[in-house]
Amino acid sequence: MEKICKQCDTVFQGRKNQKYCTTKCKAAFNNERAKERDYYLNRAIRDLKENKKTLGDVYKLFGSEVISATLISKLKLNFGATSTKTLNGHCCYGEYELRRVDQNHYRIIKHK
Ligand SMILES: [Zn+2]
Repeated sequence: MEKICKQCDTVFQGRKNQKYCTTKCKAAFNNERAKERDYYLNRAIRDLKENKKTLGDVYKLFGSEVISATLISKLKLNFGATSTKTLNGHCCYGEYELRRVDQNHYRIIKHK
Protein backbone atom coordinates (compact mmCIF):
# COMPACT_ATOMS: atom_id res chain seq x y z
CA MET A 1 0.00 0.00 0.00
CA GLU A 2 1.35 3.43 -0.95
CA LYS A 3 1.72 5.79 2.05
CA ILE A 4 3.16 9.25 2.84
CA CYS A 5 5.51 9.49 5.84
CA LYS A 6 4.19 11.85 8.58
CA GLN A 7 7.72 13.01 9.31
CA CYS A 8 9.46 13.50 5.95
CA ASP A 9 6.61 13.32 3.38
CA THR A 10 8.39 10.51 1.49
CA VAL A 11 6.09 8.17 -0.44
CA PHE A 12 6.72 4.58 0.69
CA GLN A 13 5.17 1.11 0.54
CA GLY A 14 3.83 0.05 3.92
CA ARG A 15 1.19 -1.68 5.99
CA LYS A 16 -2.27 -0.10 6.28
CA ASN A 17 -1.55 1.34 9.74
CA GLN A 18 2.08 2.34 9.07
CA LYS A 19 2.65 6.11 9.38
CA TYR A 20 6.41 6.48 8.97
CA CYS A 21 8.84 5.31 6.28
CA THR A 22 11.46 4.24 8.84
CA THR A 23 11.82 3.78 12.62
CA LYS A 24 14.20 6.77 12.47
CA CYS A 25 11.35 8.99 11.16
CA LYS A 26 8.97 7.61 13.82
CA ALA A 27 11.49 8.44 16.58
CA ALA A 28 12.14 11.92 15.14
CA PHE A 29 8.40 12.67 14.99
CA ASN A 30 7.81 11.52 18.56
CA ASN A 31 10.90 13.35 19.88
CA GLU A 32 9.70 16.63 18.34
CA ARG A 33 6.26 16.18 19.89
CA ALA A 34 7.78 15.47 23.32
CA LYS A 35 9.99 18.55 23.01
CA GLU A 36 6.97 20.77 22.26
CA ARG A 37 4.83 19.13 24.97
CA ASP A 38 7.49 19.65 27.68
CA TYR A 39 8.68 23.09 26.54
CA TYR A 40 7.46 25.04 29.60
CA LEU A 41 8.47 22.31 32.02
CA ASN A 42 11.99 22.16 30.56
CA ARG A 43 12.27 25.96 30.63
CA ALA A 44 11.24 26.05 34.32
CA ILE A 45 13.80 23.36 35.15
CA ARG A 46 16.51 25.24 33.24
CA ASP A 47 15.70 28.50 35.06
CA LEU A 48 15.72 26.74 38.44
CA LYS A 49 19.13 25.20 37.66
CA GLU A 50 20.50 28.62 36.63
CA ASN A 51 19.15 30.20 39.85
CA LYS A 52 20.71 27.44 41.92
CA LYS A 53 24.08 27.78 40.18
CA THR A 54 24.08 31.58 40.48
CA LEU A 55 23.21 31.50 44.19
CA GLY A 56 25.82 28.76 44.72
CA ASP A 57 28.47 30.99 43.12
CA VAL A 58 27.48 33.96 45.30
CA TYR A 59 27.38 31.71 48.38
CA LYS A 60 30.97 30.63 47.66
CA LEU A 61 32.00 34.29 47.86
CA PHE A 62 29.88 35.56 50.74
CA GLY A 63 28.61 32.51 52.62
CA SER A 64 25.62 33.53 54.75
CA GLU A 65 26.76 37.14 55.13
CA VAL A 66 24.22 39.90 54.52
CA ILE A 67 24.19 40.89 50.81
CA SER A 68 22.75 44.06 49.30
CA ALA A 69 19.49 43.85 47.35
CA THR A 70 21.31 45.74 44.57
CA LEU A 71 23.70 42.82 44.10
CA ILE A 72 20.84 40.32 44.14
CA SER A 73 18.97 42.37 41.50
CA LYS A 74 22.05 42.23 39.22
CA LEU A 75 22.09 38.43 39.30
CA LYS A 76 19.10 38.28 36.92
CA LEU A 77 17.41 35.49 38.88
CA ASN A 78 14.03 34.25 37.75
CA PHE A 79 12.36 34.56 41.14
CA GLY A 80 9.41 32.49 39.93
CA ALA A 81 11.59 29.44 39.27
CA THR A 82 11.79 28.13 42.83
CA SER A 83 12.04 24.54 43.97
CA THR A 84 10.17 25.11 47.23
CA LYS A 85 9.30 27.70 49.86
CA THR A 86 10.15 27.63 53.55
CA LEU A 87 7.36 27.77 56.14
CA ASN A 88 7.89 31.54 56.50
CA GLY A 89 7.67 32.11 52.73
CA HIS A 90 11.33 32.39 51.71
CA CYS A 91 12.10 30.96 48.28
CA CYS A 92 14.51 28.06 47.82
CA TYR A 93 16.45 27.30 44.67
CA GLY A 94 17.75 23.79 45.17
CA GLU A 95 19.60 23.79 48.51
CA TYR A 96 19.94 27.60 48.55
CA GLU A 97 17.36 29.72 50.36
CA LEU A 98 17.19 33.40 49.50
CA ARG A 99 16.08 35.09 52.70
CA ARG A 100 15.12 38.76 52.71
CA VAL A 101 16.62 40.40 55.81
CA ASP A 102 15.09 43.85 55.28
CA GLN A 103 14.16 46.19 52.41
CA ASN A 104 17.76 46.44 51.16
CA HIS A 105 19.40 43.19 52.21
CA TYR A 106 19.32 39.46 51.65
CA ARG A 107 21.10 36.45 53.04
CA ILE A 108 21.71 33.11 51.31
CA ILE A 109 21.19 30.09 53.53
CA LYS A 110 22.54 26.74 52.36
CA HIS A 111 20.40 23.78 53.44
CA LYS A 112 21.79 20.28 53.56
ZN1 LIG B 1 10.09 9.41 6.71
